[in-house]
Amino acid sequence: MFTPAPNPPADLDQSESIWIPIRSGTAFVEPGGGLVRDKVAPVEAPNLFLGILDDTAVYALDLHDTSDEGDLEPVHLRKLYGRIPDEEWVVAGRAEQIVNYERTHIYCGRCGTPTETNSHDRGKVCPKCKHMAFPRLSPAMIVLVEKDDQALLAWGRQFPGRFFSTLAGFVEPGESLEQAVEREVMEEVGLKVDEISYFGSQPWPFPHSLMCGFHCRYVSGEIKIQEEEIIEAGWFHANDLPPCPVGGMSIAGWLIKDWLERQGVH
Ligand SMILES: [Zn+2]
Repeated sequence: MFTPAPNPPADLDQSESIWIPIRSGTAFVEPGGGLVRDKVAPVEAPNLFLGILDDTAVYALDLHDTSDEGDLEPVHLRKLYGRIPDEEWVVAGRAEQIVNYERTHIYCGRCGTPTETNSHDRGKVCPKCKHMAFPRLSPAMIVLVEKDDQALLAWGRQFPGRFFSTLAGFVEPGESLEQAVEREVMEEVGLKVDEISYFGSQPWPFPHSLMCGFHCRYVSGEIKIQEEEIIEAGWFHANDLPPCPVGGMSIAGWLIKDWLERQGVH
């Protein structure tokens, strides 16, 4: 179990810590292996305490300003999935986000004065104008639209090849998650939906999203795709799916897997 904390407790055993060196979405790991476990940091770089994984201290190392990565192997966070335990992968995503936060909040966003870090949390305070900042999170909704025994999947422009997934989009200021679902489905495929129900959520460190998953039910309309975002969209039966994620690393895959199980496909 991972317990986040801004500072290491005084009685924490630090005879061996987990070190997660990070540079721009890439983590550095043991060559051919997993996260570095050692008494001392494997490279010289600013370190940030993240919390405690089981009984072990976890630190992120900000490698942006150093060219020395020792003998470590660079692995993009996406490619790291499956190579280390899922819980460690989520902590590595946290390392990326905290390093990114520290690098982008050195100065007050309002008046430009160097910020100070709170002692009890990750907040940054401006000593001059008292403006406060916290790690940035961008909530996004992700939704599987269902119509009888079919699900709506779309081939988004962000995918390198012909690959389908659920619809997703960022929540706008002043909007509830459910309103974001209704708006995004209407914008992306021109359909009206209801019975929006919460499925689950996932931190997604690319770069700082919180994916909030939903199911909903088709009400009316014909599919009309938003061409800036989507190449193709359609209704699919469980036994005739296009290339798409099923289970795996992302909540899109979990939504589709859950739907398949409800269709009797395992
Ligand atoms: Zn300020």
